[in-house]
Amino acid sequence: MLSVKDAENIILNAVESLNQEPDLEIVDLLTAYHRILATPVISYLDFPHGDNSAMDGFAVRYQDVQNSSFENPTILEVVEEIPAGYQPQIPIKSGQAARIFTGAIMPKGADTVVMQEKTNFQGNQVSILATPGPQEFVRHQGDFYQAGKELLPKGISLNATEIAILAAAQLSNIRVFRRPRVAIFSSGDELVTPEQTLQPGQIVDSNQYALGALVKELGAEVLMLGIVKDNPTALTETINYAIDNADIVLSSGGVSVGDYDYIDNILASLGAEIHFRAVQMRPGKPLTFATFPNSLYFGLPGNPVSALVTFWRFVQPTIKKLSGVNKGWEAKFIKVKSHSELKSNGKMETYIWGNLNLSNGVYEFYQAAGNLSSGNLINLAQTNALAVLPVGKTLVSIGEEVLVLSL
Ligand code: AMP
Ligand code: MG
Repeated sequence: MLSVKDAENIILNAVESLNQEPDLEIVDLLTAYHRILATPVISYLDFPHGDNSAMDGFAVRYQDVQNSSFENPTILEVVEEIPAGYQPQIPIKSGQAARIFTGAIMPKGADTVVMQEKTNFQGNQVSILATPGPQEFVRHQGDFYQAGKELLPKGISLNATEIAILAAAQLSNIRVFRRPRVAIFSSGDELVTPEQTLQPGQIVDSNQYALGALVKELGAEVLMLGIVKDNPTALTETINYAIDNADIVLSSGGVSVGDYDYIDNILASLGAEIHFRAVQMRPGKPLTFATFPNSLYFGLPGNPVSALVTFWRFVQPTIKKLSGVNKGWEAKFIKVKSHSELKSNGKMETYIWGNLNLSNGVYEFYQAAGNLSSGNLINLAQTNALAVLPVGKTLVSIGEEVLVLSL
């Protein structure tokens, strides 16, 4: 059976990141939050824009004050006060200083700022009580960034700091990639919506909502296509519509052997390449991955936990890579000590749900209480991590290290 690692490689190799002109959108600064930058950003402004003070204090000529001390202060004439936002008018000559505030423009002639705590200011005279470093507390034009260089690279996710940088550069029309479009449907004759009255033998389609929420959380657009009966005509129609309208199609259920053949045949008849139909993992073994010329198809297992685990392990990296982000889409595992004894049959890569809890500043993994059945959605609530036992590993003892996928 295909290993999880090989399945991941097959999937990620099949994903083409958004990168074309029609995939760009122009959005304003706040709308850009969590979007992916589609072109490198260059500014015509230096940062800082001009030499300015990093302190409240006095702008001086270093030469004048280089032998100052508390016992032997240098006395300077204060010729101007320079608050932030004000253009200094008077060049500083030898023996002179300007009162200056944080962020204010340095006056001509001055090269150093003495912080006000190291001065004594009276009338129009300031005593410099300590020798500053040369050019101390001056932020020079272009120290942080020079106009014309790359300010932000293509393919990054725009968070608060990047949005602040774009604003500071006076860029308010931001070129980002469109959101990936993800179609979701559930298949099964037993499924009803949360609004319908349950008849004996029926269950509510919860997967569609779980998957929709996860897709939204990743910043993608969701197309909820509803419940489709285990019926080839209905399935063909829905899949056909989905591949025409989405970059990624997620179905859940319909993975019993007979049903499975249904979906396979439909996918094949619609021109898909089917890459695999099962992965050596638990939960999540019955997983179909297929590609169409313009969309990727995941046939997720119907069991609620299996659907979510395969989403976290395979679909999440797919959506991230497709979104145009330039790196960091792979599932990331961290090594922590297990606070619980973890068990597997050793035949499958086993994913055990639970929590990463902080204890004395160190994360430890706690297995969820209750029955760890792939049909038990209830104890998946309020978990935040999956511990992974590789094939061949049957036991992780308390205190032993284990790899954990943080959710
Ligand atoms: P299947 O993959 O169709 O064989 O379904 C496996 C199990 O998952 C069955 O118990 C189904 O009733 C259940 N199941 C299938 N689809 C869903 C769904 N959309 N929401 C919740 N449970 C489901
Ligand atoms: Mg079914």
